[in-house]
Amino acid sequence: MTLVDVILPYAVEGSFTYFVPSLCEQTPVCGQRVVVPLGQKKLVTGIIEHVREAAADEETDRYRAISYFPETFPMVTSEQLRLWHRMSEYYMCTLGEVMRAALPGQLRIEKESRPRKKAQPVFETAPAHPLNDEQNRAMEEIQAAWQSKSTVLLHGVTSSGKTEVYIHLAQEQISAGKQVLYLVPEIALTTQLTDRLRRVFGERLGVYHSRFTDRERAETYKKVLAGDQYDIVIGVRSSLFLPFRRLGLVIVDEEHDSSYKQQDPAPRYHARTTAQMLAAIFGAKTLLGTATPAVESYYNAQQGRYGLVKMMQRYKGLALPAIHLLDLRKAYKQKKMEGHLSLPLVVHMREQLDEGKQVLLFQNRRGYNSYIECPECGYVPKCVNCDVSLTEHKPASESQGSRVESQGSRGGGRLVCHYCGYSIPAPAVCPECGKGVPRDRGFGTEKIEEEARALFPEARVARMDTDTTHGKDAHEKLIRCFADHEIDILVGTQMITKGLHFKDVSLVAILKADAMLNQPDFRSYERAYQVLEQVAGRAGRAGTEGHVILQTSDVENPLFTYLKHHDYEAMYREQIDQRKSFRYPPFFRLITLTLRHRELSRIETASRTLHERLCKVFGQRCSAIIVPAIGRVQNLYIRQLTLKIEATASYAKAKEMLEAEMRYVRTLAPCKGVLITPDVDPM
Ligand code: ADP
Ligand code: ZN
Repeated sequence: MTLVDVILPYAVEGSFTYFVPSLCEQTPVCGQRVVVPLGQKKLVTGIIEHVREAAADEETDRYRAISYFPETFPMVTSEQLRLWHRMSEYYMCTLGEVMRAALPGQLRIEKESRPRKKAQPVFETAPAHPLNDEQNRAMEEIQAAWQSKSTVLLHGVTSSGKTEVYIHLAQEQISAGKQVLYLVPEIALTTQLTDRLRRVFGERLGVYHSRFTDRERAETYKKVLAGDQYDIVIGVRSSLFLPFRRLGLVIVDEEHDSSYKQQDPAPRYHARTTAQMLAAIFGAKTLLGTATPAVESYYNAQQGRYGLVKMMQRYKGLALPAIHLLDLRKAYKQKKMEGHLSLPLVVHMREQLDEGKQVLLFQNRRGYNSYIECPECGYVPKCVNCDVSLTEHKPASESQGSRVESQGSRGGGRLVCHYCGYSIPAPAVCPECGKGVPRDRGFGTEKIEEEARALFPEARVARMDTDTTHGKDAHEKLIRCFADHEIDILVGTQMITKGLHFKDVSLVAILKADAMLNQPDFRSYERAYQVLEQVAGRAGRAGTEGHVILQTSDVENPLFTYLKHHDYEAMYREQIDQRKSFRYPPFFRLITLTLRHRELSRIETASRTLHERLCKVFGQRCSAIIVPAIGRVQNLYIRQLTLKIEATASYAKAKEMLEAEMRYVRTLAPCKGVLITPDVDPM
């Protein structure tokens, strides 16, 4: 009797076995999709992991028959299955969870729409720009380093032409008959880069990210599977799951970026690590590129595990932007502030706008919880499901300039929970005291946009953040408008920092740098450096001199000195010492365990029990029980434990011991129902 072990898209451990009816005309193969019954009525699509003959003593009676095969060929390649296995082992999740992340929804259900017959657009292409001497040297060094190392870190300052180097390396792979995967951390970056890559690669370029509909993604998946359509694919982390055939190179652009880490749901993977797993399966090369390497990556390069290549000159010898510090404390004391903008900044902005230049105002979101407070009684509206205060959202029409009629609430605005989406109309008067009008106490981009409009009524002002980029193309439109200089002042969050190229931006202002430094996170310092250097890097990218005004209440902080000198190495040296002293990566591997449950007593019992057991096994390596700053989300109480395992210790062994403890605790009656989710290499 022929049996198939099937991967189903669930968080259940172990595989599901079915038998293939002997009348079935097809011989099943690994990676093929199969529709199988589950439970009473349900049919689900799975992927065949193994095909085997029943063992002589196997009780095959308990197996059910498969229903049918949607097609005759494997939809998942053997390389993909190997990647799924590695990810599920490394990140401590099930194959089903990896499958769910890996396949577009359409390929996981039986109902399938026919591919739309769209005329394949034909793109006009042009040869890549020839590299200059420094870029050529970098390219040769990268190729030389690949002779002995599979991963190379390209540390190149902003606007040194890293992208041009990637293009040349990609062309080289393609002419050797290989495919290239070009990873970017966020969709924002695909827009501009797609244009640049399209110019060179035309219709041989595939694009893959979540703004496409599921149907479009399924189509791209199938085209990649067919093998001959694309030579190069640009996409976000999920494009690691495409069924490549002849992968030769994975480029991880802006490799330091934390959006490469998937937080939720499982697999909680990091695209940089996974890219290297994928490349290893194909015997392909990996190139990590950035102006501000992750401390872990730079350490790996220093240790000789990665090759290291540098490009320290901007293209055409342009100067790196000059960074000026502005002491906010002084400015407030001397009353030299217009809202959030200091007077020197306003003067500078006026000057630049008069010269026909563009200005970028950067407001860091992290650490600022914009919230509403009643000025009379101090009442703060909170979410009913989560331990957080609500954030005010004005109606779209209002924030775009025109006012709308009030509808009982203030201007039809709403108060929203950023964690669960719970929302209520913004109250016109305080529901507690009935006297005050609760106002926004936060320091948000909306406020800054308003201030900029008031100060520069003649300028075209726009804002880019998660609120203004909901629509499918909103993002692209804003970026294009700004790149085409249809906007004079752009206010934005982290979203505007990444790798974007705007030729007329001469001034970048960082409105308050401090909160980024004061986060309870061992990466906050490094991250602040990266974000600030990246934001600064948007200035002066085409001939004009770039200036950055950095407003801070902490001018003495050494980080700003490193930034002024664009001295990544100094920042790195300081951080790596700290990481060593405080037992953090790259010297220690972190695994965070998150426990969730509706009942407080149960979560407390479970976390205490797990903590005790882990301390017995891991000793000092297990942290105390952590109650996170936001201790309840969507009605679930949260507790955390962090393990710190020496990087030199056996990860496999540590994982085995940890899994045994988790399994045991889950079986205890007082801990039943408590969700325990591991996060390996958390960020
Ligand atoms: P990075 O990726 O390092 O930030 P880019 O590749 O975006 O830098 O280059 C910055 C700008 O300089 C881009 O507009 C790019 O087109 C231009 N540029 C860089 N190198 C070349 C080259 N060799 N020929 C023509 N233009 C170049
Ligand atoms: Zn909520």
